[in-house]
Amino acid sequence: MPNGNVIRGARVGSGPERPPERYEPAPRQAVAYWCRNDHRVEILIAAEATPPPLWDCPRCGSPAGQDAQNPPGRARSEPYKSHLAYVKERRTDEEGAAILAEALADLRRRRGR
Ligand SMILES: [Zn+2]
Repeated sequence: MPNGNVIRGARVGSGPERPPERYEPAPRQAVAYWCRNDHRVEILIAAEATPPPLWDCPRCGSPAGQDAQNPPGRARSEPYKSHLAYVKERRTDEEGAAILAEALADLRRRRGR
């Protein structure tokens, strides 16, 4: 009698045995975050996990960081930028040169006639 294809049925109620420690809560670590509105958030994550750098503040929705003195997104003073600086952000030097050349050619054409 061939024995290879016999599927061994598991007895009802005999689930896979699990080690008892599986039911114990995993070790946790508390990580505190601060948002720019001085809300303190404490979360519990697995002890071996690396805390995420940012956490959304549940009270105001702002991103919260782990540095209480320097929360992310705090109204940081934008350095003054000139109009040219903004233009340079949008356009590469090559594009700028092309635009300039085009404008100069246009100007010369108008002056020439
Ligand atoms: Zn907040």
